[in-house]
Amino acid sequence: MEIVVCVKQVPDTTEVKIDPATNTLIRQGVPSIVNPFDKNALEAALQLKEKHGGKVTVISMGPPQAAEALKECIAMGADEAVLISDRAFGGADTLATSHTLAAGIKKLGNVDVILCGKQAIDGDTAQVGPEIAEHLGIAQVTYVSKIEAGGNKLKVEREQEEGYEIIEAATPVMLTVVKSINEPRYPSVKGTMKANRKAIPVWTANDVEVSPDKIGLKGSPTQVRRIFSPKQRTQGEIIQTDSARESAALLIQKLADAKII
Ligand SMILES: Cc1cc2nc3c(=O)[nH]c(=O)nc-3n(C[C@H](O)[C@H](O)[C@H](O)COP(=O)(O)OP(=O)(O)OC[C@H]3O[C@@H](n4cnc5c(N)ncnc54)[C@H](O)[C@@H]3O)c2cc1C
Repeated sequence: MEIVVCVKQVPDTTEVKIDPATNTLIRQGVPSIVNPFDKNALEAALQLKEKHGGKVTVISMGPPQAAEALKECIAMGADEAVLISDRAFGGADTLATSHTLAAGIKKLGNVDVILCGKQAIDGDTAQVGPEIAEHLGIAQVTYVSKIEAGGNKLKVEREQEEGYEIIEAATPVMLTVVKSINEPRYPSVKGTMKANRKAIPVWTANDVEVSPDKIGLKGSPTQVRRIFSPKQRTQGEIIQTDSARESAALLIQKLADAKII
């Protein structure tokens, strides 16, 4: 089974710096981690490989330092890694990001399963996985909490607010996974040594089949106009009268005045 896991390197802090001129994240110098949901996706891929054989390739679009995240994935057990990195990809929104990643996955060749995290903890959009599936014209199942493989079909559980759906999907298919699917393993010593020796290939815009007008800022239909910290919440008000009934009536009045109810 040929499995590709999309991995994003994300800042390991909520105190990310923002370039006020371009409204983009300044990632250089900020401590980074593998997006936690992507570790769940990698763990799911490794379990599929252990049971059914095949190969796990991790792929990321990001700045040169994102190679570190890919090395961590190799240390966890991924077989191959590819970094898609080029200044031309900078400022990408989810459409441009997914266009680029889909082109990278196409270049990898035959793929049975693409695994993504449910969402990235910095962008938080949960759009990239489904958009990759759309670009490649393949089926998708999101919020996956269990995967069983057999033949050229996967049986998956899709988490819902109340309960879950059981869905059968023919490969090739793209799945995004939720946290409850598994507990990601730690990198092994052998894996870490392998990761240290591994040279991660870097594909630029010339190496993948992308249209120049569909990548980076130019290929992004959305643009972040302003980024700012949310206002501190004002202190609450405690309503206390002699009777509970009176307090409740006063509370309801205040909530109604504030158009909350
Ligand atoms: C409107 C908008 C404008 C933006 N503009 C900029 C900008 O100008 N500059 C900038 O640096 N960023 C920008 N971003 C952020 C950047 O485009 C997003 O981080 C990126 O598109 C992924 O979206 P996300 O983080 O919400 O990922 P999600 O869609 O939440 O990620 C879901 C999953 O997709 C996979 N995935 C996501 N991104 C990658 C990746 N890069 N490589 C591999 N796998 C991935 C992972 O498996 C991840 O778990 C913008 C985002 C938005 C929404």
